[in-house]
Amino acid sequence: MAIRNILNEREDALHRVCRPVTNFDERLWQLLDDMAETLHKADGCGLAAPQVGILRRAFVMDFGDGIIEVINPEIVERKGKQEDVEGCLSCPGEFGITRRPRRVKLKAQNRHGEEFTMEGEDLVARCICHETDHLDGILFKEHVIRMLDPEGK
Ligand code: ZN
Repeated sequence: MAIRNILNEREDALHRVCRPVTNFDERLWQLLDDMAETLHKADGCGLAAPQVGILRRAFVMDFGDGIIEVINPEIVERKGKQEDVEGCLSCPGEFGITRRPRRVKLKAQNRHGEEFTMEGEDLVARCICHETDHLDGILFKEHVIRMLDPEGK
């Protein structure tokens, strides 16, 4: 495993539409392992492949119960609304209040190409939306209804 460099939002990779993952091979597993290690070192809750310069539809999340690997995600259901503070490892020091669905249902594949679905609410729903957006070159700022100043107000 290796720590990868997290790209800043100024980099082109953060603004591109990523291609689906088609090969569920050791190269993908290496990427996912590296992304998990990079996410843990950065102490974030989600990291998408384009943030480490790989334009493929994959991300990892961790809410303290272990890593969740998400490949070729599709949000198939959105319910309710929430507004809460959001930031991004590619936008260090910037935070804003975003509006997101309260609950989402996600359909995706695991590292072996097997399909799974998961439901998430609150922080998990926010993270799923945020990371899925990254795969379409969309940053959280597009969902911000109010940016916070550096003191977090
Ligand atoms: Zn992000």
